[in-house]
Amino acid sequence: MINAYATQKPGGKLEPFTYDPGDLAPGDVEIDIQYCGLCHSDLSMLKNDWQISEYPFVPGHEVVGTVAAKGHGVHHLEVGQPVGLGWFGASCMTCEWCTAGHHNLCQNSQGLIVGRHGGFADKVRAHAGWVIPLPAGVNPESAGPLFCGGITVFNPIVQFDVRPTDRVGVIGIGGLGHMAVKFLDAWGCHVSAFSTSSEKEEEALSMGADHFVNTRSDGALEAVANSFDLILSTVNADLDWRAYINALRPRGRLHFVGAVPGPVAFDLFPLLMGQKSISATPLGSPATTARMLQFSARHGIEPVIETFPMSRVNEAMEHLHSGKARYRIVLKN
Ligand code: NAP
Ligand code: ZN
Repeated sequence: MINAYATQKPGGKLEPFTYDPGDLAPGDVEIDIQYCGLCHSDLSMLKNDWQISEYPFVPGHEVVGTVAAKGHGVHHLEVGQPVGLGWFGASCMTCEWCTAGHHNLCQNSQGLIVGRHGGFADKVRAHAGWVIPLPAGVNPESAGPLFCGGITVFNPIVQFDVRPTDRVGVIGIGGLGHMAVKFLDAWGCHVSAFSTSSEKEEEALSMGADHFVNTRSDGALEAVANSFDLILSTVNADLDWRAYINALRPRGRLHFVGAVPGPVAFDLFPLLMGQKSISATPLGSPATTARMLQFSARHGIEPVIETFPMSRVNEAMEHLHSGKARYRIVLKN
């Protein structure tokens, strides 16, 4: 039996919930969970904001732990080995996207918390292909957030060949955004942090931002017109995207990883005249996740976390909801 925390209805409290996962399927791995990060997507899924949640709902998709058991045919992992697991619990492994190494684009992938029970639990199961070994030099206590938030902001750097000479902006200095600042700084870029929270300035600079833009101050975006090769949006809110497109240099890209609720409105001409792009990505592949872990170990990049015991999960959810998390919450078993 697996002991988890579940809510029975949209927006409900998380209560202890025990379920029988059945026999371990061939190719699957069971993980003993030590830590699980708390992503804003857990909150959105708990409230059924995206209309894909199923109840009872067990959140949690930033898992770190050890391999508890292996299903038939799993040979590359050992029982007891430290591993991590993020948003995806499985993908088909045979389609053109999986076989090309773009597993995160598999049209038959399964989210760990979409129609499955996630990592706010003592154990969780997933396909072995998505269970990533934790390399030496990565701190297990703070590593959970790398498996969703971290790879989500690292992947665009790889996908779009971001160069160390690029000037980049990160919108929203939250869970994803603070990791983006650290990665882009270590990559060599000139990094600007766009934030509505002026009290985050000092910490954003200490994480590697070269410049802090308080987006609540008048004229802040006009002042950085024509400045950036890449702007990475990590916010879950509708903003003035025209102003951000205006802040791009020719050939610049406005890239979304934050789940914006409304349609993104823009005028074609500023894009056309400057050969600018708008794009979005989900997470990253297992191979890119492994690369990110190596990069993090080499550069000493760690998410900045606040740790709560798993039993205080409702308090942790409320802390994230209030916007007070600095910068990622991790639940500890
Ligand atoms: P988070 O920790 O809550 O951070 C979001 C940040 O956005 C906040 O810290 C805040 O930064 C800013 N923000 C919040 N409300 C805002 C508003 N009304 N106006 C302007 N800025 C606002 O959330 P997270 O865990 O980083 O997740 C961010 C988004 O990414 C969520 O939508 C989540 O679902 C999504 N996500 C997507 C993927 C993917 O695969 N693409 C993966 C993981 C998460 P400041 O205080 O600095 O303004
Ligand atoms: Zn997430």
